[in-house]
Amino acid sequence: MTIKIETIIKKALKENSLALEEIISLLAIDDTADLEALYAAARDTRNHVTGHKVFLYGFVYFTTWCRNNCNFCYFRKSNDIDRYRKSPEDILGICEELAESGVHLIDLTMGEDESYHKDQFSSLFDSIKDIKLKTGLPIMISPGVVGDDLIDHFASIGTEWYALYQETHNPVLFKKLRTLQDYDLRMHAKIYAKEKGMLIEEGILTGVGETLEDIAHSMLEMGTIGAKQLRVMTFVPQEGIPMKAGKMANENLECKIIAILRLLYPHALIPASLDVEGIEGLSARMAAGANLITSIIPPKKGLSGVAQNGPEVAEEGRSVEQVSPILAEMGLEPATAEDYQNYMTMLRAEI
Ligand code: SF4
Repeated sequence: MTIKIETIIKKALKENSLALEEIISLLAIDDTADLEALYAAARDTRNHVTGHKVFLYGFVYFTTWCRNNCNFCYFRKSNDIDRYRKSPEDILGICEELAESGVHLIDLTMGEDESYHKDQFSSLFDSIKDIKLKTGLPIMISPGVVGDDLIDHFASIGTEWYALYQETHNPVLFKKLRTLQDYDLRMHAKIYAKEKGMLIEEGILTGVGETLEDIAHSMLEMGTIGAKQLRVMTFVPQEGIPMKAGKMANENLECKIIAILRLLYPHALIPASLDVEGIEGLSARMAAGANLITSIIPPKKGLSGVAQNGPEVAEEGRSVEQVSPILAEMGLEPATAEDYQNYMTMLRAEI
């Protein structure tokens, strides 16, 4: 291992904090021994906090209609694709099935569907209440940017998490990614949700034209706003969208970011998303220090992922059954529902 990288990793392990330039040095690692040392430090940090327990999130992308035109997104308004909007009965049924399969949280994700905005999200509020009643599981919502009054309502019915990804904290790049959307409004919504007692998830995309400095800046910003779940995903180019993959899109970069986030924020929930490379990409992300698996999707329900719309989602799904043996091979195991509830309590106490 090179001395410079060894010194930075030691500092991160001791202080759980790094300067921007130090983060950039870790992101730039290209030596195999350095990379393995980074991942080993991240795994040790994770295992120290969560033992060998891994949390599992069920993903329900219940409407793919969207009023926006994000340049990286298959479901952007201008893309002429088949879309769906699941009924409240279908949503509840899918959530019950996910709960039975052993997930610890239901992640309710949607495009910015005008029909939900028109009825002021009343059907989603009803769904959340029904799902909580029937499954007893906590809920994460990803409704896009919504007003303070709606956030008040989500918080008042006990919605635990608000996920709202900036994708980058470089406002110039943001404008290129999230066309015609307001950077500050998006930041405001998640910070307001946190003030109202909700836990928040922040996220970044790699391979979208960002620099290492942009990524390092985002990693520090995620801590500043008090996000407790920190997501990174690699941009996956898809049919019909204007954006092509940037130079830096690769699995190593995503895994490096997971590992550095783990060193900076030992208690954070950091997902291994199945949405980038499916089940195949799980072990690399867990080996980099992730403590959570997201985008578990039940099969044959006609559901999509956000970054992947492939046959694995439609036909085989991505199930707890499929991920469990992979975790076992790595000496890891699914947590219990009680473990997850206790973990959320601990995260809330940190707010
Ligand atoms: S990323 Fe979200 S807001 Fe943007 S186009 Fe896709 S679904 Fe809509």
